[in-house]
Amino acid sequence: MALVRNALLAASQNRWLRERAPRLSFVRRTVSRFMPGETAEDALSAAQQLQAHGIATVFTELGENITDASEAALVTEHYIALLDQIRARGLPSEASVKLTQLGVDISSSQCYGNLKRVIQCAGEKNTVWIDMEASPYVDITLELYRRARTAFPNVGVCLQAYLYRTAQDIAALKPLSPAIRLVKGAYKESPSVAYPRKEEVDKSYFALACTLLSEPARRTGVRMAIATHDRNLIRRIKSFAESTGAAKDQYEFQMLYGIQRAELIRLVQEGYRTRILIAYGPHWFPWFVRRLAERPANVWFVVRNVFAA
Ligand SMILES: Cc1cc2nc3c(=O)[nH]c(=O)nc-3n(C[C@H](O)[C@H](O)[C@H](O)COP(=O)(O)OP(=O)(O)OC[C@H]3O[C@@H](n4cnc5c(N)ncnc54)[C@H](O)[C@@H]3O)c2cc1C
Repeated sequence: MALVRNALLAASQNRWLRERAPRLSFVRRTVSRFMPGETAEDALSAAQQLQAHGIATVFTELGENITDASEAALVTEHYIALLDQIRARGLPSEASVKLTQLGVDISSSQCYGNLKRVIQCAGEKNTVWIDMEASPYVDITLELYRRARTAFPNVGVCLQAYLYRTAQDIAALKPLSPAIRLVKGAYKESPSVAYPRKEEVDKSYFALACTLLSEPARRTGVRMAIATHDRNLIRRIKSFAESTGAAKDQYEFQMLYGIQRAELIRLVQEGYRTRILIAYGPHWFPWFVRRLAERPANVWFVVRNVFAA
């Protein structure tokens, strides 16, 4: 299992594959399970359908590690236009951005300028989320998050339970009343920075979720998004939250498009707030391979698509 996961995570960073694999029809057929299409219009239409089921959405335009300032500016404009569309259509939708897509590899101050424009355009009531990328980006991501959160109320950040440092990062962010989306973590990390075993990651996830949902954390105004498809964890977290007196609307569950939809609908029916992350855009290859790595059985799904009509 770990071998397949590591091979897939290495493949997600392979330039040769990234340029060629997306042209193969069976790969395109497989990715359609995880994204409604390549355009913002595809994502907006999918959000409209989910809205009818009481499910909110968060959009992310795929792409990472931009090295040209003009490209980062285009991504910024893209999100600004997207937020205008969200407003125009009255969608319960937010945006989630990657700092490497907003130019952090070029200049952290330019990246912050781009981020600030997106946050300002979203308006105070619509949160802009910052994705967490591979571990070398954690310090700069948290630095820019702190700066943004000090200036704006509507910005959240993703934290990864597989990193040993995350408990300390949560403690340091608490005074800012942060919005935190907790995930297990999707990148290939060394055991020197991240728990290598799934049981350890799950244990860390539960402990961090309990910290964030605890009564003292809620009193400081932390907004908590539990972003996992792990039904066992969801069940345990719901029961912990209930035991601390947290109301169902004080936190929300987030999942990825195409995964565990039935579980999310069950949560909606139970009265929880839910949100689906819809990814789109032509640069989907590394993101798609990370989705395969999360569940090696997905590889059989790819294989089945080789033989599909
Ligand atoms: C809203 C959202 C935002 C995210 N943002 C980030 C981010 O910014 N940075 C980051 O590092 N990671 C991010 N992730 C990904 C996250 O780190 C995990 O890699 C991913 O959610 C899988 O972990 P899991 O918690 O679902 O648990 P797992 O233990 O991996 O999965 C639990 C169960 O869910 C199902 N499942 C999970 N993944 C898949 C899949 N790909 N295909 C089919 N079934 C699956 C399976 O049934 C599996 O048994 C995000 C995830 C979500 C839901």
